[in-house]
Amino acid sequence: MTSVTVNGRSYQRSAQPVVVVCIDGSEPGYIESAVATGRAPFLARMLKDGTNRLAQCVVPSFTNPNNLSIVTGAPPKVHGICGNFFYDPESGTEVMMNDPKFLRARTIFKAFQEQGAKIAVVTAKDKLRRLLGHELEIGPDRAICFSSELADKASLSENGIENVLDLVGLPLPDVYSAGLSEFVFAAGVKLMERDRPDLMYLSTTDYIQHKHAPGTPVANDFYAMMDGYLAQLDALGAVIAVTADHGMNAKHDSRGAPDVIYLQDLLDGWLGKDAVRVILPITDPYVVHHGALGSFATIYLPSGSSVPELLDRLRTVPGIDLALSRSEGCARFELPEDRTGDVIVVSTAHKVLGTSADRHDLSGLTEPLRSHGGVSEQTVPLVLNRPTDLPAGAKLRNFDIFDVALNHAR
Ligand SMILES: [Zn+2]
Repeated sequence: MTSVTVNGRSYQRSAQPVVVVCIDGSEPGYIESAVATGRAPFLARMLKDGTNRLAQCVVPSFTNPNNLSIVTGAPPKVHGICGNFFYDPESGTEVMMNDPKFLRARTIFKAFQEQGAKIAVVTAKDKLRRLLGHELEIGPDRAICFSSELADKASLSENGIENVLDLVGLPLPDVYSAGLSEFVFAAGVKLMERDRPDLMYLSTTDYIQHKHAPGTPVANDFYAMMDGYLAQLDALGAVIAVTADHGMNAKHDSRGAPDVIYLQDLLDGWLGKDAVRVILPITDPYVVHHGALGSFATIYLPSGSSVPELLDRLRTVPGIDLALSRSEGCARFELPEDRTGDVIVVSTAHKVLGTSADRHDLSGLTEPLRSHGGVSEQTVPLVLNRPTDLPAGAKLRNFDIFDVALNHAR
C-alpha cells in the first residue's frame, strides 16, 4: 500500500476498486424516499450497514465548482472553477470556464495515475469531461474518460475507448433525459467488469431533480434504476461512495411561476441602466431545465462605487439571503477573488436570481422551477457501502469523499 499526495492531502491506495458517484442535484430525501418504497434495496443496505452521513457542498452550489472540488479534494479558491462563467472586466466579456486551462489544481486521478493506478471517468454531459480528465494520459490501460452525451463519438485517442454503445448495450441517450444518467451507470458496470479500474468516477446530470421532488414517482424510478447498477458494482467488489454536487429546492410561487429577483433590472432602477453588471455563474449552454435561474449571483461595479452602501440596500430586499463584499464572500465560501465580482448575492431557499426579465428564456420549463446555487442547497448525502472510522460528529464536505473512501472505509 502506497499513499498519494495531491493538493496537500494524502490518500491511501486501496486493494479494491473505489467508485465515487456524484449524483447531480441529490437533495437529502431522494435516496430515503426511494428506499421507503422498497424499490431501492441496495441503497437501503448502504444506509443501514454502510455509512450514512450528510456533508456540505461548495457555494455557489453549482455543478462544475463542486465536481472539481470533489476530484481535487479542494475548494474553488484552490482549483479556480467557481461557476460556468466569470466576467473579465478588462475585455468586457463573459468568459466560459469549461476549458481545462482555467483549472489551477491537479486532480486526484492524475496523482493516482502517476503512481500507476488505472482510472475511469464517465460523466453525463460532455461539458465536465474535459475538466475532469485534465492532464490525464488517456489510453485503454491508463485512463478512460468520456461522456454519455457524446458516447457515440468516443475514440481511443481522445477518450481511451471506442465502440462505447456496443460495450454498454444501450442507444445514445438524449441530453435532456434520465437515460443520460442511466448510461453513466451502465457504462460504469461494464468498465468494472472489463477493466477493473483502481479509481472510477461517475457523474450524472440533475435533469430529473430539476423537475421532480424527492418521493415523487419519477424521482423514485430514477433512484430505483440507480440502485440496480450500484448493486452490480458492489457485487464486483468495489468500495462505493456516493455524494452530490449540490441539493435542490422548489423555487416557484404558489401559481407555479419561477420566483425571481431580476437583479439587473433592480440595479438598473437604482443606479441607472447598465451601471453595474450582474453575472449568473449558473448560465451554460444547457439551460432548458432551469432557465439560467439559480440562487447565486455576483455583481461587478464601476470603480469608485461604494460597496457597503449597495450591500446595505441589497440586504433590505425580501428574498436576498446574503449580500457580501468580494473579500467577505470569497473568505466565507473559499472562492477565487480574481474570478468573483465586487459583490456576491445569495437568495433564500425558494427564490432565484435573474439578470433582466427579457434575458431569460423560460419556455423550456415544463414543470414548476426547482433549482440551486445558494446556501440552502448546501447539504448533500455522503453514503458508502462500507462502514467508516470517521469520528461521530465529524463535519464533512462533499469534497472529502475520496478521503473518506480511500482513508476511512473498512
Ligand atoms: Zn449539478
